[in-house]
Amino acid sequence: MKFGDTIQSADWKAEKHAPVIEAPETVAAGQVFHVTLSVGKEIPHPNTTEHHIRWIDLYFKPEGDKFIYQVGHFEFVAHGESAKGANQGPAFTQPFATCALQVQASGTLIAVSLCNIHGLWESSQPLALA
Ligand code: FE
Repeated sequence: MKFGDTIQSADWKAEKHAPVIEAPETVAAGQVFHVTLSVGKEIPHPNTTEHHIRWIDLYFKPEGDKFIYQVGHFEFVAHGESAKGANQGPAFTQPFATCALQVQASGTLIAVSLCNIHGLWESSQPLALA
């Protein structure tokens, strides 16, 4: 078995775990653009001490490149934990992050998210140079 075999994928409109990538389809080389990542845009994912999204990673795979490049790692670390007990805390981080990015090649944006009890989920979106 390979690690990649454990990563699930699905249409984010039908599966609450699949990460959502919001980014332009086309950018100019070196132009700064924004990528927004989230989980649960269509079907909300639970956000409790027992069940939540831990992190989302963003990668860029340039066309024709053997390697993949990690662009960002966004952690969501408050899920109602408290001295009073689970879910009694004052803060619940939502699985949402925006980063600014520029690229020098066409390729694919790939997001991977981790649910603490339902594992890894990925989605991807092509990115073309104008
Ligand atoms: Fe889950």
